[in-house]
Amino acid sequence: MKKIALLGSTGSIGQSTLSICESHPDRFHPIALAAGSNLEVAFAQCQRWRPQVVSIATEALADELSARLKDAGINGIEVVYGTAGTVRVATLPEADFVVSAIVGVAGLEATYAAVLAGKTVGLANKECLVAAGDLILAAAREHSVDLLPIDSEHNAIHQCLRGGAASEVKQIWLTASGGPFRNTPLADFGHITPAQALKHPTWVMGQRITIDSATMLNKGLEIIEACRLFNLPPAQVRVTVHPQSTIHSLVEYVDGSILAQISVTDMRLPILYALAWPERVPSDLTFDMAALSHLDFQQPDFERFPCLRLAYEAAAASQNHCIALNAADEIAVEAFLAGKLPFLGIPRTIEQVLALTTSGSPASIPEVLAADRAARELARELVAR
Ligand code: NAD
Ligand code: MG
Repeated sequence: MKKIALLGSTGSIGQSTLSICESHPDRFHPIALAAGSNLEVAFAQCQRWRPQVVSIATEALADELSARLKDAGINGIEVVYGTAGTVRVATLPEADFVVSAIVGVAGLEATYAAVLAGKTVGLANKECLVAAGDLILAAAREHSVDLLPIDSEHNAIHQCLRGGAASEVKQIWLTASGGPFRNTPLADFGHITPAQALKHPTWVMGQRITIDSATMLNKGLEIIEACRLFNLPPAQVRVTVHPQSTIHSLVEYVDGSILAQISVTDMRLPILYALAWPERVPSDLTFDMAALSHLDFQQPDFERFPCLRLAYEAAAASQNHCIALNAADEIAVEAFLAGKLPFLGIPRTIEQVLALTTSGSPASIPEVLAADRAARELARELVAR
């Protein structure tokens, strides 16, 4: 039985993780949960799973959750809050495996703490790898920690890398669905609304990553994520647009062989793979091979999706630029969803913040967080103009 600490339990990945625990009760059990501000769902999860510890965003929410648990006659759950609360969940001595699925840099400290505590980590939170991948990977090496990617593309690469040695890899190919605006003419990009951008053709996900898929910054973040996880330079991480999202990514070896991973478009599969690794366990997430008629591929369009170019540029420039790329996007997406920034304002804001960023590489997590705050501040000023 693996005891799971789940960061981001109320989100899309969090709920899919609990669904895997539900369908494999003999293998995986959640013993600690960290939620943001969704009190209703956090309370229901406490009722269902009776975790040892639950964390929630603020002290006020923690008081309310404690009171609700008491009223319901549920005792013995330690209720914590804030960043310290997420760190408590991530480092709980009884937990074997930490699922990192808080969205954004808000999940960084807990994820890093999990690595320092020697936990096996399933990583959905790509933003923490973009902001501090070098520090996280170094700590993982030092503490002999296995990092298992949950992001579907990186999970696919992890699987395909079992087919050869790291030194035999020529390059990797991340597949991209292309998002809802794959075929939208550039002239129409100025009028894109949040409602249109929130309709992803192949995946149901949280809001930030859905908007990032529409601008294709998500693929940009994934390029940097792949560089960090698999120790590859940006030139060896390629992108191909594959609208069906059937192949989740590919590894090309030096002899010319390309290995691809195919499965259902359902995040429960990469979550199950990460939780079960190094084993594979039976599931009902079967892919209907007989129904597969064709697979399409296109070159990515860097003109309509400048966020892809910006991500390659940030990756080539410096770690500070990667931090700024993510921070500026987080602010710009928030503003877009609030109706305060047009769709094309997202790449514009990122580009402006990157242009004002000085090269450098933070040596610690507090330094990463300081660079992240500075870039956010700058992005807020630019958005307000
Ligand atoms: P989501 O918005 O559905 O959920 C985010 C979770 O983080 C929620 O539980 C929320 O309460 C929690 N949270 C937010 N701010 C917090 C804070 N300050 N403190 C504590 N908790 C906080 O997002 P998601 O789609 O589940 O994505 C989670 C992560 O996984 C993201 O980094 C995303 O890029 C990555 N990811 C998601 C998918 C997917 O299919 N949803 C696929 C690949 C990667
Ligand atoms: Mg992905």
